[in-house]
Amino acid sequence: MDALITSLVQANFAPERIIPRASMARYTTFRVGGDADVLVNIASPAEIPVALRAAKHAGVPVTLIGNGSNLLVRDGGIRGLVVRIAGDCAAIRREGDCIIAQAGASMSSIAQFALAEGLDGLAEIAGIPGTIGGGVIMNAGAYGRELSDVVTRVCAVSVSDGKPVVFEGDALRFSYRHSALMEADVIVTEVTMQLTPGDPDAIRSRMNELAQARRDKQPLNLPSAGSTFKRPQGLFAAKLIDDCGLRGLRVGDAQVSEKHAGFVVNLGSATASDILSLMEEIRQRVYAANGVMLEPEIRILGENKKA
Ligand SMILES: Cc1cc2nc3c(=O)[nH]c(=O)nc-3n(C[C@H](O)[C@H](O)[C@H](O)COP(=O)(O)OP(=O)(O)OC[C@H]3O[C@@H](n4cnc5c(N)ncnc54)[C@H](O)[C@@H]3O)c2cc1C
Repeated sequence: MDALITSLVQANFAPERIIPRASMARYTTFRVGGDADVLVNIASPAEIPVALRAAKHAGVPVTLIGNGSNLLVRDGGIRGLVVRIAGDCAAIRREGDCIIAQAGASMSSIAQFALAEGLDGLAEIAGIPGTIGGGVIMNAGAYGRELSDVVTRVCAVSVSDGKPVVFEGDALRFSYRHSALMEADVIVTEVTMQLTPGDPDAIRSRMNELAQARRDKQPLNLPSAGSTFKRPQGLFAAKLIDDCGLRGLRVGDAQVSEKHAGFVVNLGSATASDILSLMEEIRQRVYAANGVMLEPEIRILGENKKA
């Protein structure tokens, strides 16, 4: 990986942004996973093609992450370069009734910005703990709203050649936890959301009410990646799991949350392998009881640990 680090330094990445042997447990909300060979924290959209070129030059694969709130990284970690866009590369601005946010901006900070501007439309997504880049590609949503309700334009760069690409309107092809961006092999750099003027007090009170609903229903005190499985058509994964009596089921320190059966939580020292074994056990038990094979909502990345 020395060649990769040299390429990144030569491309003017500040040394503190280049993290060799980065523990993915630090960069994911599940708090599990082995090391990435090298992780680079992106500071601006212009740095993204530069990082892609450095990886190409060094002949290593690239993995993209945002806030790591929908990810499970296996215990053997990730080979090559992890490009992380979260926290920085996060400017937010208003143009008319639109908000335009860089990919690393968190959905909560965008919702707070909208509230301060008296713009309505993001109260429901305010509590989703990811970046807008990670959110838009999978059409994140909650409480009856999805990003597709407000997103009108997405700027991205192509992973293959680093060139800019713009997706607008119907070309985004949003559906449940899906968008055209997923198959396009692109890195989102900027997202435009069309909002409507609203009463700040009403927006604030809706946000507070939904934050309380999350605290009441979700195990926010324990590491997780949110809902583990997608909602099967016309059904609820959490109910299917609960109906099989799996609440509290454990493999090592991975547990079906006692508070919300749709979440697998890390009780402290779970490994990715524990979580994957538990997920498989849930899938088999739900299938045996209902004939429904649950599909993971979380993204699973990286390699198994070598024996
Ligand atoms: C407690 C908790 C509650 C949650 N509640 C919800 C909820 O209510 N609704 C919901 O939809 N989700 C929920 N989630 C899941 C998660 O927050 C969302 O999926 C979020 O959109 C992921 O964003 P992220 O930045 O963390 O992406 P990551 O988890 O880092 O990445 C997820 C995927 O997005 C890709 N990606 C990340 N950034 C970019 C980018 N700039 N360009 C292209 N691809 C990118 C990654 O390559 C990866 O494939 C919850 C998670 C937790 C831990």
